[in-house]
Amino acid sequence: MSEDLFLKIIDREIPAEIVHEDDEVIAFRDINPKAPLHVLIVPKKRIRTINDISEDDEKVVGKLFSVARQIAGQEGYSDEGYRVVMNCNAAAGQTVFHIHLHLLAGRAFTWPPG
Ligand code: AMP
Repeated sequence: MSEDLFLKIIDREIPAEIVHEDDEVIAFRDINPKAPLHVLIVPKKRIRTINDISEDDEKVVGKLFSVARQIAGQEGYSDEGYRVVMNCNAAAGQTVFHIHLHLLAGRAFTWPPG
């Protein structure tokens, strides 16, 4: 068993509501949603934090945004708008150390975030 929660989801060791999967990326609904739409978009390669992203990872990190755009469109939020967020380390609230883009939509968001 992997110690990385999201690798466990990728390996189907724990269940998730998967909304997108391809060779490089998986996306699934957040277990504790903070908006009517809250999906996590995750590279299959384990990258612990934004600090660990290398030049080799630039393509897959860009793809996280393409998948976010696709899912936002499928769910009907392209025009209304949505937020994407990636937390880095503890002060920013990162709790799972495998990078992931949060896609949030379906309510008004304040700025700056808390
Ligand atoms: P972060 O705090 O940015 O690292 O985000 C981690 C996110 O993972 C949180 O929003 C959690 O609610 C979410 N999460 C934790 N466990 C699971 C799980 N088993 N399935 C789906 N989402 C999860």
